[in-house]
Amino acid sequence: MIDAIFLDRDGTLNVERADYVKSIDELVLLPGALAALGSLSALTVPIILITNQSVIGRGIVDQAAVDAIHAHLHTQVRASGGRLDAIYVCPHHPDAHCGCRKPQPGMLLAAAADFQLDLARCVFIGDSLSDYAAARAVGCQPVLVRTGRQMRQLEQLADSDPSVILMDDLRAAAAWLMAHEQHSVGCDTAWRSAR
Ligand SMILES: [Mg+2]
Ligand SMILES: [Zn+2]
Repeated sequence: MIDAIFLDRDGTLNVERADYVKSIDELVLLPGALAALGSLSALTVPIILITNQSVIGRGIVDQAAVDAIHAHLHTQVRASGGRLDAIYVCPHHPDAHCGCRKPQPGMLLAAAADFQLDLARCVFIGDSLSDYAAARAVGCQPVLVRTGRQMRQLEQLADSDPSVILMDDLRAAAAWLMAHEQHSVGCDTAWRSAR
């Protein structure tokens, strides 16, 4: 059984924009994303969003704008029967070299402390190499989706690292995780590759 599900935001839950999501109108959820969150919510583990938002550190929007986007996201998720138990945001500019901006694992470590998680029993669903690296840095199982801009790189990565689980989208990742959890009830099985 897993301890928690970490989720990336842009490119995983919603359409990534080259010019950043700056308002609730620009938060366009990917097809099936809400339904996927709804089904994952049947698992009795925390679902935690882990997102880099350098849009704040770059001075394009302020923290309040990102908070408003996340309040709106919460409302949509709740209305469709899902939940997000926490949202961790790195607001820093890449040049700040903070410990929280993925690929650094700072947000995962903070969540592990807050929710008392064994990170080796957590999964991280994301769409980028930095999600993969953050997960690997703390022993989380990476589950990668092809809905972001790094689809090609992820396919190469999955070829070189057979423990990577690569799925078409969050919907497929959720279905895989639900099946995995049902399978592992009562026994501590190793991760099974979906490939
Ligand atoms: Mg992403
Ligand atoms: Zn940071």
